[in-house]
Amino acid sequence: MSNSIYLDNNATTRVAPEVIEAMLPYLRDLYGNPSSMHTFGGQLHRKVEDARAQVASLINANPEEIIFTSCGTEGDNTALMSSVESQPRKKHVITTRVEHPAVLNFCHHLGRKGFRVTYIPVDSQGHLDLDALTKAVDDDTAAVSVMYANNETGVVFPVEGIGEMLRQRGVVFHTDAVQAAGKIPLDVTKLPVDLLTLSGHKIHAPKGVGALYVRKGTRFSPYIIGGHQEKGRRAGTENVASIIGLGKAAELAAKQLRNEAPFLISLRDRLENALLKTCPDVRINGDRTTRLPNTTNLSFEYVEGEAILLRLNEFNVCASSGSACTSGSLEPSHVLRAMGVPFTAVHGSIRFSLSRYNTEEEIDRVIEIMPPVIRELRSLSPFGRDKMSRLP
Ligand code: PLP
Repeated sequence: MSNSIYLDNNATTRVAPEVIEAMLPYLRDLYGNPSSMHTFGGQLHRKVEDARAQVASLINANPEEIIFTSCGTEGDNTALMSSVESQPRKKHVITTRVEHPAVLNFCHHLGRKGFRVTYIPVDSQGHLDLDALTKAVDDDTAAVSVMYANNETGVVFPVEGIGEMLRQRGVVFHTDAVQAAGKIPLDVTKLPVDLLTLSGHKIHAPKGVGALYVRKGTRFSPYIIGGHQEKGRRAGTENVASIIGLGKAAELAAKQLRNEAPFLISLRDRLENALLKTCPDVRINGDRTTRLPNTTNLSFEYVEGEAILLRLNEFNVCASSGSACTSGSLEPSHVLRAMGVPFTAVHGSIRFSLSRYNTEEEIDRVIEIMPPVIRELRSLSPFGRDKMSRLP
């Protein structure tokens, strides 16, 4: 194990040791193809189905409603593409301004293809404008895609209420639950969603595997076309070892969710409350009451997020920033900008996202490190608070 303090679990998670153990036989010895006629390969078909049942159980779905994918992005793309392809006369799609690029950029793509796309705004707390969403739905609407929980702020959207409204209007509803799964309970028997995306590497399974829930009866058009795998709904030889890993990770998440959430909330709040107390000019981005248990997004005014991350990196602390360079894009966080977070605060934003593997000692170490780091950076910055206050 590395000696890093890893607080970037919304980016990716450590593969659980139990998941690695479950996968190893399928990487080492049981390398057959589940579609093969011979027993060596064919026996894997049953194992894939066991994993499907484990994933289904995490969201209380039927196993037949689960399609294995290569990642969350594929699930999101497939959900949207399938929705528009299976309703060729409808040319309108609705999403939010704060989706992950896996949805947002696919909607931009649809826009370039001639679809009308409505992007629903959020308020300063990150809450969706539900009136705008209700008003945007019309007879031409093929699908609505609203994320369950935001990857940057952790803010949770009222997916159940939105789904009820859309069901009355007969509109297909997709939710990207990549960040919500395994962190808060999801039950598709109570959630009126037609399609729901999951990703393995956010729940302690490996990268490169995910799942798409497709409610029985939802019209579905495959995105990846080829062989007959996944009952013709997603072609390509199954990533058996990773599927087994995803199944195990889903089983662990379901088992541990109830105990894990209060543990994560206590660590997250310990960190947040300490930083609010010890660092001046700090704000929390997103409503604190309707958030994922593991996520906090803080803005430190008058400092660059990149600079904070680099200093934290020297202490082996891993986090993320909503400012441009560290997020790997040219633009600062579209989520924080959509919330109207002031420019200086967007640039000084840091996301800490926790997992079951974090400890109180790690959090206390970060609580110790942060105040001097912020003080030092502010004293160096040409935009530091002291310098700003001396400006005419
Ligand atoms: N949706 C959300 C909300 C995410 O946070 C991510 C990844 O960060 C994705 C989709 C994409 O998932 P993947 O990395 O598995 O493609």
